Amino acid sequence: MAVLPPNVTADSFASAIREYEAAVGAEWVFTSDADLAAYRDPYSIFRDTERESLASAAVAPQSVEQVQAVVRIANRYRTPLFPISTGRNFAYGGASANLSGSVIVDLKRMNRVLRVDADRNFALVEPGVSYFDLHRYIQERGLKVWIDCADVGWGGPMGNALDRGMGYTLPFFREHANAVCGVEVVLANGEVMRTGMGALPAADSWQEYKHGFGPDPSGLFFQGNFGIVTKMGFRLMPEPPHYRSGAIRLPKRLDLIPAIKLVNYLSDSGMLGEVFYESPLRALLGNSGFSAAANRRGGADPAEMDRYAADNNLDSWQVELQFYGPRATCLANWEYAKSRFESEVPGASFLEGESLDIPLTQEQLMNPRPWFRNGLWHREVSMGIPSLSAWSLVDARSAAAPDGQVVAHAGFFPIIPRSGEWVFRAQQVFGDAIADMGLPPFNAALSTPLVWAMFAYQMVFPLPDDNEIVHRALLRLVEVGAENGFGDYRSPPFHQDHVSDMYSFGDNALRRFHETIKDAVDPNGILAPGRGGVWPSVYRQFRHDWSRDA
Ligand SMILES: Cc1cc2nc3c(=O)[nH]c(=O)nc-3n(C[C@H](O)[C@H](O)[C@H](O)COP(=O)(O)OP(=O)(O)OC[C@H]3O[C@@H](n4cnc5c(N)ncnc54)[C@H](O)[C@@H]3O)c2cc1C
Repeated sequence: MAVLPPNVTADSFASAIREYEAAVGAEWVFTSDADLAAYRDPYSIFRDTERESLASAAVAPQSVEQVQAVVRIANRYRTPLFPISTGRNFAYGGASANLSGSVIVDLKRMNRVLRVDADRNFALVEPGVSYFDLHRYIQERGLKVWIDCADVGWGGPMGNALDRGMGYTLPFFREHANAVCGVEVVLANGEVMRTGMGALPAADSWQEYKHGFGPDPSGLFFQGNFGIVTKMGFRLMPEPPHYRSGAIRLPKRLDLIPAIKLVNYLSDSGMLGEVFYESPLRALLGNSGFSAAANRRGGADPAEMDRYAADNNLDSWQVELQFYGPRATCLANWEYAKSRFESEVPGASFLEGESLDIPLTQEQLMNPRPWFRNGLWHREVSMGIPSLSAWSLVDARSAAAPDGQVVAHAGFFPIIPRSGEWVFRAQQVFGDAIADMGLPPFNAALSTPLVWAMFAYQMVFPLPDDNEIVHRALLRLVEVGAENGFGDYRSPPFHQDHVSDMYSFGDNALRRFHETIKDAVDPNGILAPGRGGVWPSVYRQFRHDWSRDA
């Protein structure tokens, strides 16, 4: 099982390990198979095949100085590094690196919450801080700020944001890379750099003005490989006094078009949290005639879908809205939303949701909250409370797999423009692509947009359990998506080259720009080679051309 980094001899690697041990302490350098198992992606499509990415070792520094020492050793011995924060990037590769044989830099021991300011609404954290850690820190001190967390709470704000993860509260906060304000990074040459106001040594506004002066390179560290981030600031949402939800039901298929325009208006005006779209027509999926209509090649016929809806006394769509703020404001915004829908979408009807004073009582917190109740979603994460409940999705899928097979989890979430017309187009493009591949249909006409990003939609597509089929299907979906203008926003390491191939405007000008910078600031290519599709020249031959497999 033991692997070496490419182009490094066993003797040289052994010397590097001795130096890593001297730098961070022998007990924090891991080389045994048993220890390194923790850094394998348990849900990799390539698990237990020769294509699986394996670590050669892992080191766990405890301070910025130790990270600097690790980087300097890596340069001397040419051992590529792959930094992780809490290392729970499941569905996107877990803790595994793009380049097999990399040394994982596990930053879990750097887990201090350095600052939370509940008057100026920000936090500054180290990499190993999990969502649970940060939430607990805030609760223990009675601070009136919310975090925006991803499912699942054992991940952390820094690692998640560095993969451009997303959450569940107000738009500005839930697009996590957006809410970042100020980073500290150890560069490939071992120097420590701070971005924005952090570059001004006496400034206390590091977490309040992210741009500083001159070009702001902080974007290079998200889905990138230009440094090891050791501190990150986040804007936090002030705790609202009230939470309210409500849903709008729309009778006809084409009602989605005006509905999305209205929701865009409400959301971009700052009135809404995350929006959940659903189709009550899912209740008809046992009906084979309806299933054929929902999976029709070339897209569903609106009149046919409307007939099924009317005959069964069902609405075509449900749009659930969430409001945060003073109780009166929440109610007024909900009433305003209803009045707009009433006058602009004939036949719209309404479902009252929850009306909760914040903070929740201990009893409300302790009562297990079903995800879907009385036709509405109920999510702890919508109230800034981290949870493990989403993990049940993974457990359920694995339990259903044949013969204890490990089922791959690999995200494909293409970015879709925020309009009803584009949602219908995406349903048709991906529905037809799945049919062309001979895969089980996924009721494309009922798939609804996911409203995570601030100004764009994503969609999710269920795939079968066979890893090789999933691999080929994902490659093909990435291509079909790109041909139609839908780019994947995030990808596990093994598909990152393929996704980045699609972002090819100007004969791959963006990739050339990234790689020119990479070669200049990291000439030995030691930092996460291949991450985000950016390969340093010394490892460029490892870039995968997956187009042949698609
Ligand atoms: C059931 C389920 C639900 C999920 N729900 C969500 C969700 O709601 N939202 C969401 O966004 N994701 C979700 N995910 C995907 C993923 O599990 C989470 O995003 C998770 O939080 C990421 O892991 P992490 O926070 O431990 O980050 P890490 O694994 O620590 O980091 C992610 C990546 O960022 C880079 N990186 C990390 N730290 C550093 C550093 N200090 N310097 C440089 N680079 C670094 C590395 O390349 C690393 O692989 C879900 C997955 C599953 C299986």
